[in-house]
Amino acid sequence: MSQIEQLSSINGKPMVLHEGYIYTVERATTTKLIFRCKNRDCKARCHTNLSMNAFLSLPTSHCHAPQPDCVPAIK
Ligand SMILES: [Zn+2]
Repeated sequence: MSQIEQLSSINGKPMVLHEGYIYTVERATTTKLIFRCKNRDCKARCHTNLSMNAFLSLPTSHCHAPQPDCVPAIK
């Protein structure tokens, strides 16, 4: 299973990092969190459990390359 790294964002919304892609919460349900790619032009989505440590649904494909350079600035 791929590793999910949790990030804390400036505005208090949970974010996760996976394989160089950053996801922000789109929606939360009682059983899972639905994340979307930080890139607004990208349609990639993934679902995690409420602890944000396991994927319930793996990320769909991105229309762009990962941007690991952006990550240290957010941490
Ligand atoms: Zn993307």
